[in-house]
Amino acid sequence: MRFLPVFLDLQAGPVLLIGAGELARAKLRLLAAAGGRIRWYATDGNHDVSGLDRADAARIELVEGDPLAADLAGVIAILCAGAGDIGPVMSARAKAVGFPVNVMDDLAHSTFIFPAIVDRGDVVVAIGTGGASPVVARRLRERIEAVLPARIGDLAGFIGRWRKLIHNRIPEFPLRRRFWERVVDGPIGALVLAGRQDEAEAALKDISDPTAFAGGSASGRAEGSVTLVGAGPGDPDLLTVKALRALQDADVIFYDELVSPEILDRARRDASRVPVGRRVGKPGIGQDAINRLMIDAANSGQRVVRLKGGDPFVFGRGGEEVEVLREAGVTYSVVPGITAGLGAAAQFEVPLTFRHEALRITFLTAHKARDAQTVDWSTLTDEKMTVVVYMGMTAAPSVRAGLLAAGRSPQTPVGVFARVTRTDAQAVVGTLDQLPTLVEQIDGGPAILIIGDVVAHSAPWRHPNLNHVITQLLEAAE
Ligand code: SAH
Repeated sequence: MRFLPVFLDLQAGPVLLIGAGELARAKLRLLAAAGGRIRWYATDGNHDVSGLDRADAARIELVEGDPLAADLAGVIAILCAGAGDIGPVMSARAKAVGFPVNVMDDLAHSTFIFPAIVDRGDVVVAIGTGGASPVVARRLRERIEAVLPARIGDLAGFIGRWRKLIHNRIPEFPLRRRFWERVVDGPIGALVLAGRQDEAEAALKDISDPTAFAGGSASGRAEGSVTLVGAGPGDPDLLTVKALRALQDADVIFYDELVSPEILDRARRDASRVPVGRRVGKPGIGQDAINRLMIDAANSGQRVVRLKGGDPFVFGRGGEEVEVLREAGVTYSVVPGITAGLGAAAQFEVPLTFRHEALRITFLTAHKARDAQTVDWSTLTDEKMTVVVYMGMTAAPSVRAGLLAAGRSPQTPVGVFARVTRTDAQAVVGTLDQLPTLVEQIDGGPAILIIGDVVAHSAPWRHPNLNHVITQLLEAAE
């Protein structure tokens, strides 16, 4: 992100507009309609403001003379639109004194740029592409226009009018936030969105105990909770809608090392983020400490998200955590995520079941060779069973030995899928016999093994040369 979206208070002072023609007039219309005052130097001497309504036109101060000698006192921003060569010169002057300046369609000379705008009164959405693609911004704007309720601005305005009063009645911030969430998400919000403000107002006045309405305890405390959230294997677009909501509502997020930064990016900005997983080369803080942190945070009234790679209940110790929370009397819930095996299957087109060919799936973990030796491989000999192995990289030779000893064919197709659904995902396929050497070709974890005839349907199996071809293309491009 190079340009941070901030909102300019147009009441604070005039905008200096320099330029002529349709470009200048378009900016004039935008600023005037937004209620701004404009000091306009028409570089071609044509100060025609016809087409603007009278109130808007009254806010425009028409100035003659050399714009480079313009009085900058009180000016909040400088804008050049259709100003020709004056734009860069004005920009240099503005930059020298630290004024925000925009020269239309000229990124190099601008210190701020105009976003695409969705305007719903008090609710304004700004969409920027860092000046790279107005078309992308416009398309996004269309989508946002389509999903935003027409009266969302009214809802913000409604809350704005009540804010102070409720602030006095619920001094505790987390509880107050929950109060407003219940208003926005509940019947009162729905009434405002339906254009029935009077009824919404009456309903709000009717709330005799705002603390109870917000779900607070008698002591006026917000009730805390823990949500175990599955973050999926890496691609943030694979978060469920519920996971996204939990991340947006969280006060604090305890996350594992498998959770990608792109996923944390989707969380509420001011939620605290606490890594609790093992880091490369460093041990984690330990399960007991994690449990303690979660319970303490929930007991202090915070909404806790325990964020785990994949699904919390698939080799994620979610079961243990839920037991501990239950014993501690903490309110909790679980949001499933896409487990790595399913992510790998979808990305590399491994149908985990296949009519007549694969009728069962086993998910197992082979954390270390020692663990692999304790697996009863004889239950996995059914040729019509797809075997998905988590944490199986170092134990790969034992996995191979176990399955072969149990009688699975050395020709059974296997795939090793690393960093699945991330931009640097990697797949290597071959036979069970080759498994240890396949694993060596992986450039870094996490990685998952899929074993079974279905791997022969996968994309990397069908296009064995693809990796090779891509590497060659990349090398040629260099
Ligand atoms: N709860 C997680 C699994 C945690 S165990 C889930 O449901 O996916 C950790 C193991 O998961 C890793 O050793 C690896 O085998 C697998 N894994 C997790 N994320 C992965 C990814 N993006 N690509 C490949 N394997 C992954």
